[in-house]
Amino acid sequence: MEILYRSTRSGDTLTASQAVLQGLGRDGGLFVPCQMPKFERSLEEMAGLTYQELAYEVMRLFLTDYTEEELKNCVARAYDEKFDTPEIAPLREADGAYYLELYHGATIAFKDMALSILPHLMTTAARKNGTKGEIVILTATSGDTGKAAMAGFADVPGTRIVVFYPKDGVSKVQEKQMVTQRGANTCVVAIEGNFDDAQTAVKKMFGDREMEKELLEAGFRFSSANSINIGRLVPQVVYYVHAYLQLMKRGVIRAGEEINITVPTGNFGNILAAYYAKRMGLPVKTLICASNENKVLTDFFETGVYDRRREFLLTSSPSMDILISSNLERLIFELTGGDASVCASLMEQLKTEGRYELTAEMKQKLSGFVGGYASEERNFEGIRELFEKTGYVIDTHTGIGNAVYRDYVKRTGDKTPTVIASTASPYKFAASVLHAIAPEKTGDLDEFGLIDLLTEISGLSEPPAITDIRTAPVRHRTVSSIEGMPDTVRAFLKG
Ligand SMILES: *Cc1c(COP(=O)(O)O)cnc(C)c1O
Repeated sequence: MEILYRSTRSGDTLTASQAVLQGLGRDGGLFVPCQMPKFERSLEEMAGLTYQELAYEVMRLFLTDYTEEELKNCVARAYDEKFDTPEIAPLREADGAYYLELYHGATIAFKDMALSILPHLMTTAARKNGTKGEIVILTATSGDTGKAAMAGFADVPGTRIVVFYPKDGVSKVQEKQMVTQRGANTCVVAIEGNFDDAQTAVKKMFGDREMEKELLEAGFRFSSANSINIGRLVPQVVYYVHAYLQLMKRGVIRAGEEINITVPTGNFGNILAAYYAKRMGLPVKTLICASNENKVLTDFFETGVYDRRREFLLTSSPSMDILISSNLERLIFELTGGDASVCASLMEQLKTEGRYELTAEMKQKLSGFVGGYASEERNFEGIRELFEKTGYVIDTHTGIGNAVYRDYVKRTGDKTPTVIASTASPYKFAASVLHAIAPEKTGDLDEFGLIDLLTEISGLSEPPAITDIRTAPVRHRTVSSIEGMPDTVRAFLKG
């Protein structure tokens, strides 16, 4: 069955590969499948597949205009020895919950799961659609996404990538990760300004028709790798199916029994993928949406009102410090019963008034979700408790999922086996993790000192991604003003 895609804000349809190439609808809407595909093989059959085979089996149902050979190729190039375990996404039991470790890729955070395959989905899409010119990815980053995108696009033929980061706005480890990036098609630029300045300037370049024309003549076209691309969502559905099958294989559940899934989220991307897995037929009872102190989603699930008019808080789970959850638009579209004009008007309200409210009927359809949040203190306490009880160390984003899940169980007594998405290696946020598990030992250690301490305390071994940056040579030294960003891009492309 062919699956077509449409924008959440209007009616035109595209093929899967066209939606991957375009990223965002011209009306500002997000692409969603016109109908949700259903599994075509039984859970028992799928349980025998490797991660790569399962990735193909799930993704083929969404990306129906890719041939078998094309899609299998994309999968093979993505989920290879860039991951430090052949399991790709191992499931670890600790204190009665199942932690789905999504951080075994190149940059030790879950964005690798999708960004390792997106470049291949994109270049394949360009070839299929006869699109001319090299694909140029432009990304402004506050630290994590840019590095994961570069790791994915580095040395992929037919692509180039330019990443802008705020010069004094990222951690030392993050900066080191970026400036040591390999790949002749990568360009890293430190910006004299903050993240918002860089983001605004990137959006301006995307909208600059003159620059577009000039670059097209030189053989380049801009594209975006950000999390609203359907090509990032679909690969994320795979690992929830994989986790369910693991629980089956271990005898924790029988085929058909329901599980719960807890996801620490900000942009609503990762949890939306779990919801899509459920809509495809995965037996899931409750999706627990875990937020940090920027709890706009918790309030939304409780009241049916989305209200971004509130103070933006900086927390120790920075990748979830978000007040506008872009991917929620895909869920809203479903709640309207697929009415793009209602969805568009709610998004317009969010833009102009900073809030919108669901109707009672729409709110009723949220019954499969529970929202919850954890304070900074509760997060640290939960990480410490888990470590003291089991020796298992989780990072501060996973910690939010952990705390919200434990509080949920206390409140409801729900004993359903639960998968918690584990979104980053504790090594990526060593300072915060140590603040939770050994605050008396951190002293005035620098970032690598903290990493050594973490190894000593946790008994974990240092991931290759960390070892690598200790000695990797600096390859990028470009610094640019905000105004100078377009010329920096021109200089890189035209050499
Ligand atoms: C990006 C990120 C998240 C949030 O992901 P969403 O797409 O907002 O759901 C959570 N944890 C880590 C470590 C991340 O990098």
